[in-house]
Amino acid sequence: MGVLLALLTLMAFAIVHPRRPGASSVCNGTPANGSLRDAVSIPHHGVNFSSYSTLGWLLGRQHVHSKVYATLIDAQRELVRSRPEVHTVFAESGWPFGGRLRPHRTHRNGTSVDIMVPVTRDGVPVPFPASLSNGFGYAVEFDRQGRYRDYRIDYDAMAAQLLALGGAARRNGIGIDVVIFDNTLQQQLWQAREGRKLQQAMRFSRTPAWVRHDEHYHVNFVVSCR
Ligand SMILES: [Zn+2]
Repeated sequence: MGVLLALLTLMAFAIVHPRRPGASSVCNGTPANGSLRDAVSIPHHGVNFSSYSTLGWLLGRQHVHSKVYATLIDAQRELVRSRPEVHTVFAESGWPFGGRLRPHRTHRNGTSVDIMVPVTRDGVPVPFPASLSNGFGYAVEFDRQGRYRDYRIDYDAMAAQLLALGGAARRNGIGIDVVIFDNTLQQQLWQAREGRKLQQAMRFSRTPAWVRHDEHYHVNFVVSCR
């Protein structure tokens, strides 16, 4: 009975929490100390992309500012055209009203998005294997060569994703402040087909973050907030 009630509450919340891609959001403060109004949820799935967790999505942990939403969708559309083999797994971004999203330190005003690294398995691009058993993907540990079991980080795909995000951000009147990604693995990202171009296109974290960002990268967008 308790479980049923919890499920019904979750479903009711999913239905009522704001998800209107047409409306403009209002963000306040900074990613580390802020809030958000009229947020939009990243869709659960679409062409060549999916959520890291249906539960996380239902709980409302994938909300963003409307301009960030437009940027993600625009970049994804571009990727479908230019790199149809690439599958994007969007992870946590924020609550419908912003504020603290545990355990993250930022993600508080709709301008931060986590994206699981694109991977290949036996050389074939596959969706990132996020599941309940590996902390919805966050507990996966890649080694210093970007390997985890049969999976390899697909750096060419990652560079393409980020360049598509950079272009889409510009078209939507916002920018990318910083991309946080493991410093050792960054060296391999620069070796990707478009690695050089990427290095010049946006700023990357230079010092290690509070948790290792190997299984996902974090993008902080620049949106004008109140
Ligand atoms: Zn993050």
